[in-house]
Amino acid sequence: MERNPFVLHVATLLRSPGSREHRIVSGRIDDLRVGTTAVGDHSKVSADLVLESVHGGILATGEVRACWVGECRRCLARASGEVRAFVRELFEPQPATDSVYPLTGEDLDVEPLARDAILLDLPLAPLCRQDCRGLCAACGSDLNEEACSCAEGAVDWRWAALDALKP
Ligand SMILES: [Zn+2]
Ligand SMILES: [Zn+2]
Repeated sequence: MERNPFVLHVATLLRSPGSREHRIVSGRIDDLRVGTTAVGDHSKVSADLVLESVHGGILATGEVRACWVGECRRCLARASGEVRAFVRELFEPQPATDSVYPLTGEDLDVEPLARDAILLDLPLAPLCRQDCRGLCAACGSDLNEEACSCAEGAVDWRWAALDALKP
């Protein structure tokens, strides 16, 4: 079985409280999805962390990154971008609260930390670009590609209604 890249051996750190180690890890994490936005199947999540030995636990501080793809909320075209989430989380052998991650023996599994950070920061309703003009609500034209005449058309419809009353 392939070794999980997110599981870090921290025996040396635990033996010397106050010490630190810089670790960079990356690998695949399944099911990172919010709505239509997801980290692609072949896209890796990376974590750049400083691990600090504190009172029998480990404090992990750093950045978690991943590329995502999704659907533009205005024009439905492909949208993509990168999540860069700042993290500062504590790991303890017996977590007393939900906000602390578990530390199993001398192994620190940072995958749950990376997963939570990415899920929290994935854009639920992304844009393909900041000034996306979207689709016309009346005719469905992609206004990034072409201008439609629906705005002028709105005036014409009134006349069309009057015309319809004529015998
Ligand atoms: Zn768009
Ligand atoms: Zn239109």
